[in-house]
Amino acid sequence: MRLRNKPWAEDFINAHPHIVIPNPEDFKGNWNAVFNNDNPLHIEVGTGRGQFITGMAKANPKINYIGIELYDSVIVSALENAIEAGTLPNLKLIKINGEHSARFFQKNDVSRVYLNFSDPWPKDRHAKRRLSHENFLKLYEAFLIDNGEVHFKTDNRELFEFSLVSMSQYGMLLKYVSLDLHVNMPEDNIMTEYEEKFSSKGHPIYRLESQFLT
Ligand code: SAM
Repeated sequence: MRLRNKPWAEDFINAHPHIVIPNPEDFKGNWNAVFNNDNPLHIEVGTGRGQFITGMAKANPKINYIGIELYDSVIVSALENAIEAGTLPNLKLIKINGEHSARFFQKNDVSRVYLNFSDPWPKDRHAKRRLSHENFLKLYEAFLIDNGEVHFKTDNRELFEFSLVSMSQYGMLLKYVSLDLHVNMPEDNIMTEYEEKFSSKGHPIYRLESQFLT
């Protein structure tokens, strides 16, 4: 994701605390209070400009969604997207590093994690930064419900293979694997920004659904 300097981003984010939660650590174990209901919570780590998470929130009003993003200059576009979509009480954004998720979520807080077009970190020495590395899987397992799921999409073959190996070696069940999602596009597929970009260039989209067995 290209980072642009947006000096106005911080003020704009601060002006919308009902969408970009300013104090996410306060809701660890109590995210229902943010949404005012007991619906399941699905999160996207690395939500970028939020096209996917906003589309999911619109399509599934009975599920709560949180988009997690590292950068002000990017999450501010997700915020703009959410505002443009109209009132979506089931969508929130938080500006945190997914690496620190244990500060914000605890066991049973989340039912599903989405990883879409995560940064591939192609060098072996950076493998631990990949969001499907076993260290991240451990973090997700710690806050997911029992048998919680990870849904993953990418156009990057190497990252996809790495993730298949990482998740199966971790002992997760691979429930669904597609090497070309758009050949038989599921009706309920919501395209991410990167999915649109890369599929329009003819790249196949890889997708998997995996489940923790604990
Ligand atoms: N998911 C979007 C899509 O498919 O269009 C965006 C993909 S973009 C390549 C990856 C995004 O993940 C970037 O916006 C980046 O800032 C964010 N990101 C990378 N590592 C992260 C981390 N550890 N925690 C939170 N966000 C992260």
